[in-house]
This record gives sequence, structure tokens and C-alpha cells, in this order.
Amino acid sequence: MTAIIGLTGGIGSGKSTVARLFGELGVHWVDADDVARQVVEPGTPALAQIHQHFGDEVITSEGELDRAALRTIVFRDPDQRGWLERLLHPLIRQELQRQLTPSDNDLPYTMLVSPLLLETDQQALVKKVVVVDVPVETQVERTMQRDNNDRSQVERIIAAQIPREERLTKADEVIDNRAPLDDVKQQVEAIHKKFLVAFGKG
Ligand code: ATP
Repeated sequence: MTAIIGLTGGIGSGKSTVARLFGELGVHWVDADDVARQVVEPGTPALAQIHQHFGDEVITSEGELDRAALRTIVFRDPDQRGWLERLLHPLIRQELQRQLTPSDNDLPYTMLVSPLLLETDQQALVKKVVVVDVPVETQVERTMQRDNNDRSQVERIIAAQIPREERLTKADEVIDNRAPLDDVKQQVEAIHKKFLVAFGKG
């Protein structure tokens, strides 16, 4: 059976960058954010339920989910937030499980890339946790540069995620992403070898 490994880290820590490096080694990975969008695409049963529950207010003129409108509603109302999470979390989990166990996978593991791995029940899907780690200041600088955000916006998002120290205590493997990419690549290769041995293709 294919083992699922979780890859997580705070905003701008380098999850996508590191996932691409695992991908270069042939590792199949799935981004939880992509799946969270897929389950509410136009035509899905989940979007129909959300529409029915919250009304036209949360649907754009193109028939897509208006994320900003929905966010505003659930931010003010914890009960509505609960309703939405009870609908979406099991669906996301089911779809993640499906995409993470492809029938044509050659390697003994696949990877779930998720910023909220440790904050949600997604944790239960994975055998090991890999944390991409950089100091908070590096997170802030890289995210500001990438997204053109201001410092206070990025700091607010970081404050809403689990603290760096706590995340590190839950890690089975840590990737130090302060380093230049060549070095990070070597760290990824070493962990990949370890997982091949641990999960059956050493
Ligand atoms: P988010 O949670 O916001 O989706 P992320 O954790 O996936 O972010 P990335 O997008 O991979 O993070 O990286 C954030 C930024 O830092 C990107 O612009 C990326 O190119 C840059 N970056 C990542 N790793 C390194 C590195 N080792 N050295 C220099 N820059 C890096």
C-alpha cells in the first residue's frame, strides 16, 4: 500500500518549492489547496449545497463560489463556519485520499502538501510529517516579495497559523529552507532515500 507523507510549513516557508523538488524525483504530490478549490467548482454537489444554504450572495455572476463573500459570512458567524466545515472537510479528505492513492504509482509513497496539515484532520491521512522550516522573518520577507503584500498582512496570517516551535515538535523530518536551493535539493534527496527504505523500495 502507498504511504502518504505530509509536507507542511507556514506561509511562504517554501512548501511548493520543496514539493517541486520531490516531484523531480518522481514523487506524486497533491496540493490540499487545489483540492479544496476542486470540491466547490461549478457543477459540484458541494457548491449546490452552499448556494442553497447561503443564497445568491455567495455566487459570482460567472456561477463560481465567491470566496470573499463566504469568508465574510463565516468570519462573523461561528455556527455558519461550523456548517461549512462539516460539509467541506469530509469531502476534501475523501478527494485527497483518492488523488493520493493513484493506481499507477511506481514509488512506495505519495505526498500531501498542505499549509493546514497540523491544524486539521488531514493529519490522520499521513504516516510521516515533513516540515519546511525558515525563521519567521524569512517567511515575511519571501511572502512580501512574492505576493506584493505588506508586512502587517503577512504577519497577521502567520499569527493565525500554529507557531513555528509547535510545528517543529510535530515533525518527523525537517527541511531547513534558509539554504540555497542546491542545498535544499540535497536535503530532499536524503529524505527521499530514507522514505524509499522505510516504505519498501530501498
Ligand atoms: P504559501 O504557503 O504561501 O503557498 P509556500 O510555503 O508554498 O507558500 P513557496 O511559494 O514555495 O512557499 O516559497 C515562497 C517564496 O520563497 C517563493 O517566491 C519562492 O521562490 C521563495 N523561496 C522558496 N525557497 C527558497 C530558497 N531556498 N531560497 C530562496 N528563495 C526561496
